[in-house]
Amino acid sequence: MSALDRDGAGHGNIVPSAAGAQTGGEPIPPLEWEARVELAIAYRLLDWLGLTDLIHTHISAQVPGRPEQYLLLPYGHLFGEARASQMVKVDPDGGILSDPSGLGISRGGFCIHSALHMARPDAVCVMHAHSEATIAVANYRRGLLPISQHALRFYGRIAYLDYCGGFDTAEKRARLPQALGAGHTLMLRNHGPLIVGRSVREAFSLIYYLERACRMQVASLSQCSDADRELVFVEEAECAAMAQAFQGGESVIDREWNALVRMLQQTSPGFDS
Ligand SMILES: [Zn+2]
Repeated sequence: MSALDRDGAGHGNIVPSAAGAQTGGEPIPPLEWEARVELAIAYRLLDWLGLTDLIHTHISAQVPGRPEQYLLLPYGHLFGEARASQMVKVDPDGGILSDPSGLGISRGGFCIHSALHMARPDAVCVMHAHSEATIAVANYRRGLLPISQHALRFYGRIAYLDYCGGFDTAEKRARLPQALGAGHTLMLRNHGPLIVGRSVREAFSLIYYLERACRMQVASLSQCSDADRELVFVEEAECAAMAQAFQGGESVIDREWNALVRMLQQTSPGFDS
C-alpha cells in the first residue's frame, strides 16, 4: 500500500493557515494566502506534468478583492520550488508591490498575462506554457482538430494568433484579448498557449486537457499523410454538444484538484509554506 493509499481518506480540501504569514512585515489576508497556496499548487502540478521550460513561462493569479494586483513565481525559481510565501505581487504594469525573494519577475513575460487580466474581468488566472505538443498544434494551420474527446472541450472556444516577436508595444498586446474573444484558450503560433481561467484550478484543468488533446493529435497525424482521408473526425453536431456538456463542471474540477493536492502533500510538500 502506498503512502497515498494510507492517507487517502478524502481530506483533499486545502485549509491553508495564514497565521504568521507576512510579506514586507505586513500580514497576508487569509483570502490572499489561499490564492497564494492555490497558485503554488498549480506551479508544482505543471512541474509534475513536465509542462515547464526552465524558469520561463508563467502562471499569474489575481489577488482576491484586489483586481489590479497579481501574484506570480519569482523570476529564477523552478516551478517545482513554488511556495506560497515567496510569490511576487505586482501591478498591471509589472511594478513590484512585494517580493520576498528579491528576484522580481520577467516584465516581458508578465505583459502578455496582464493584457488578458485587464481585458477580461473573469480572468482570475492566466496560464502559459511552451510544451512541444501544444506548439506543434499551434503551428499546424488547421489547429486543434476534433479527433479526440479531449479536444472537444475546446471546440469553438480556442483561438490562434500569429507570431509577432515580443509583445513590447501596446498595439501588439491589444491583439491578445482581441484574438481570444470570449474563449478561454489562445494558441500563440510558434510560441505556446495562453489559458484564461475563472480560477487557478479551472485554468489548470484546461491546460491539462489541452496538453492531452494536442499529444493525441500529434500521435494521430503521425500515422497518416492525408488527414482528411485517413483520420476519423467527430461529427459536427457531436462536437458542439460535447463542447457544451464540458462547460461548467466545477465539481469535477474540484474532485480532480483535491486528489492532486493529496498527491502533492505526499510527493512535493512545502507548497503551502
Ligand atoms: Zn512564452
